[in-house]
Amino acid sequence: MSGKHLGPHVRPADAAGVAQAASLLSAGTPVALPTETVYGLAARADSPEAVAAIYAAKDRPSFNPLIVHVADLAQAETLAQFDVRARLLATKFWPGALTLVLPLKSDARIAPAVTAGLATIALRCPAHPVMRAVLAATRLPLAAPSANRSGGVSPTSAAHVATSLGGRIELVLDGGECSAGLESTIIALRGDGTWQQLRPGPITRDQIADLLGPESVAEGNAGIEAPGQLASHYSPGKPLRLNAREAEPDEFLLGFGPLAGDYNLSPSGDLAEAAGRLYAGLHQAAAAPQPRIAVAALPETGLGAAINDRLRRAAA
Ligand code: AMP
Ligand code: MG
Repeated sequence: MSGKHLGPHVRPADAAGVAQAASLLSAGTPVALPTETVYGLAARADSPEAVAAIYAAKDRPSFNPLIVHVADLAQAETLAQFDVRARLLATKFWPGALTLVLPLKSDARIAPAVTAGLATIALRCPAHPVMRAVLAATRLPLAAPSANRSGGVSPTSAAHVATSLGGRIELVLDGGECSAGLESTIIALRGDGTWQQLRPGPITRDQIADLLGPESVAEGNAGIEAPGQLASHYSPGKPLRLNAREAEPDEFLLGFGPLAGDYNLSPSGDLAEAAGRLYAGLHQAAAAPQPRIAVAALPETGLGAAINDRLRRAAA
């Protein structure tokens, strides 16, 4: 699927590709590249111009802060204040699909637009070998939202990125399909010892509670800023109907388990497989001739919570 029909700016994520990405990033140019969650549009987080170029390419509203990707815990600790809980989570889940929202260090050299002016910063150490190679080569913290136009369906392949951002960015590193397929879980750790999940993702709420004890959700989100968790997001550009038992004649059906549909998220009813295939299915549904999309019901347990969160926003 990679390469040949996508234009010259898509290249394999081999050593030469990684080297070109690193040199573009160091010079302040955004580059799209694979992570284990979705493809990201990365830029050096210390440069206001580089970060502005991300917002411009995506048409992203500036109140929506970005996740900063780091090579390891040591680099993360130069940017944010880590307490015992933050170190525990980082030790257990990094590298991986967990983002921590922590107090920003006053001497951290991070462009203000990255945090949208908040006193906190969102940090993640990713596991994907390509993203890790680029982080190692640049030795820079990289801000990287999903590599798609703001509000649209996230990309899980280089082809998705090229379709959404082609002509707006200089380079896409093609590292194949993303394994997790859903954006990272975001956990905020508050100064009073409590924690809150800001976005469900591949690492479940229960996995966090096993280590930190029960979540405490602030009343009306007091004390926690969670900008950008917009009700409408991941939009395929067509009406989407949830919990369908069958397709209407004008619907493209995303199935699950025995309800096969036009595209089955997981014939065996496996939620990890469904998460991995969700965005590819939404991209296919968006491109299909049917004017509307329907989706089978998925259980709300485990990874199902994160999948259903994305589907509800896609339907909003
Ligand atoms: P995206 O880059 O599209 O995966 O979205 C990143 C999300 O992380 C944003 O929509 C915010 O909700 C969240 N986020 C990033 N930085 C912060 C922060 N400092 N405080 C709270 N949420 C944040
Ligand atoms: Mg996004």
